[in-house]
Amino acid sequence: MSQFISASAMAEGVLTGGVAPGHFARQACQRLETTGRELGAVLDVNRTRMEARVAALEKRLAQGERPSLAGVPVGIKDNICTLQERTSCGSKILENYCAPYDATVIERLEAAGAIPVGKLNMDEFAMGSSTENSAFGVCRNPWDLQRTPGGSSGGAAAAVAAGCVPVALGSDTGGSIRQPAAFTGTVGLKPTYGRVSRYGLVAFGSSLDQIGPLARTVEDAARVYAAIAGRDDRDATSQAAAVEDPLAQLEAGVRGVRIGVPKEYLSDAIDGRIRERVQETIRRLAAEGAILVDVSLPHTPYAIPTYYIVATAEASSNLARHDGMHQGVRAAGSTDLLSCYLKNRGQGLGPEVQRRILLGTFCLSSGYYDAYYDRAMRVRTLLAQDFEQAFARCDVVIGATTPTPAFRLGEKTADPLQMYLADILTASANLAGIPALVVPAGTIDEGGTALPVGVQLMGPALSEALLLRVGRSVERVWDGPLPIAPHGVRS
Ligand code: GLN
Repeated sequence: MSQFISASAMAEGVLTGGVAPGHFARQACQRLETTGRELGAVLDVNRTRMEARVAALEKRLAQGERPSLAGVPVGIKDNICTLQERTSCGSKILENYCAPYDATVIERLEAAGAIPVGKLNMDEFAMGSSTENSAFGVCRNPWDLQRTPGGSSGGAAAAVAAGCVPVALGSDTGGSIRQPAAFTGTVGLKPTYGRVSRYGLVAFGSSLDQIGPLARTVEDAARVYAAIAGRDDRDATSQAAAVEDPLAQLEAGVRGVRIGVPKEYLSDAIDGRIRERVQETIRRLAAEGAILVDVSLPHTPYAIPTYYIVATAEASSNLARHDGMHQGVRAAGSTDLLSCYLKNRGQGLGPEVQRRILLGTFCLSSGYYDAYYDRAMRVRTLLAQDFEQAFARCDVVIGATTPTPAFRLGEKTADPLQMYLADILTASANLAGIPALVVPAGTIDEGGTALPVGVQLMGPALSEALLLRVGRSVERVWDGPLPIAPHGVRS
């Protein structure tokens, strides 16, 4: 198995080791064009723009600047706008859409010296848990090509796990950073709602969406998070609180940290091997001095019905703008405005996206609003209160991320409900607005194939620095990050 170079080591190589500023970015483009394409992880690689970014970085370095992510290539989920590059959201309706501006996270990455190198595959409009809902082909898991890397940020997770890029940006509305991280043995952070600007993120569920990093190491996730977090006047929901430096205490360990163990995140419904991994992680953290506290998050079973009402309701409104009139693909043969809308949307949006729009429109329609949307909002409050009560007694909670390891491609496509249930342990953090981090805890054996397991940590709003610190301990007790996946890059 081939060894990887972390983003931190890349930046150090560029800043002090005499490595050319464009070296890792060019290598990443090459790896995305080969391994990344083979996996179905990549939608676009723009070498011209990459070279322009490298040239800009070279100038800054010559002027004595020392940006923290100098020369680090970053893969970008294709629902994050990059100037004059295609931002398709994995959808036919945006197949020809070139964003007229950079998302704030792209500006911030570039300010930190990072080089965005490619747009990565995803479930259409981030709706899905397997990256099988992309209009541009499925993405495969580099640990086992017959399995999904998870979704919706499957391309981002696969590209990182395969060693094409050291880090990537994903988005997480109900688990789309964390579930792919768990399935591919990568680190994934969903920040607190409003911690990272969503300006330039194509909206799915506006009260749930967050952008966050996928990385191989907790330190790399912390560095990317530090670069992109913080107030942005162009996103009214972004929080003004100062960003705590996640690197300052990263190595401080877990002595005295109160770790809550919610039984709902270790229930019988979870694969026994995953449960055992989480329990072993808990034992190892306790041996390092963590204080264990039993807690309960009793409304957890309601997370899925609540999420699939709130998220679809918001999506039905957000996606109304994708009508093929101002941007995206317009179908031929329309006779009037209505038929034009119907044709564009009927042909441009895939079956899962149409299903969500129908569900959301139904939940918001008069006569049903109280029964569904209003009730879901009440349960959402109860879910948030569960966490408040737990965090009165502990600093973070720990549990499984997914009920199963990476499942097979095609296994759940015929049954949307089964697919939705993959989010049972991740959707609550979005509904409550709290941060959550997934860190690999080794691999398990599935009929001779090694499949990664990811442990999930959740903390109160704005506790990212503590989560990353505890996450670093999880990484340490499992002997460091996982190697590049077996079907990843070889050199
Ligand atoms: N799998 C969930 C869904 O399909 C979550 C998606 C996401 O977080 N973007 O809605």
